[in-house]
Amino acid sequence: MNADNNFTQEIINKTKQQNSVKVSKQCEYDARLADEKIKLCKTCNRCWEVDKEATKSSYNRKIGRIVYSYYEDFPKYGKQIQECLKCKGE
Ligand SMILES: [Zn+2]
Repeated sequence: MNADNNFTQEIINKTKQQNSVKVSKQCEYDARLADEKIKLCKTCNRCWEVDKEATKSSYNRKIGRIVYSYYEDFPKYGKQIQECLKCKGE
């Protein structure tokens, strides 16, 4: 009986471990993705990225407009430095 219980407990523990690994991998992936997408503009000192969802909307697609999102208080560490299009004057 005891051996059976231990075996069941072992399976539960293994399942829990697998789940937690899955979750942490997902978080790392999201953070990495955000770092690659979000740029830092040194001119206006803001983080920015292309707002893909807004850019893909039928109206913006029709007039060929690309929408940008700005993040005033975004952590700037490790961000790729690229001047935003507003500072470039486009
Ligand atoms: Zn700028």
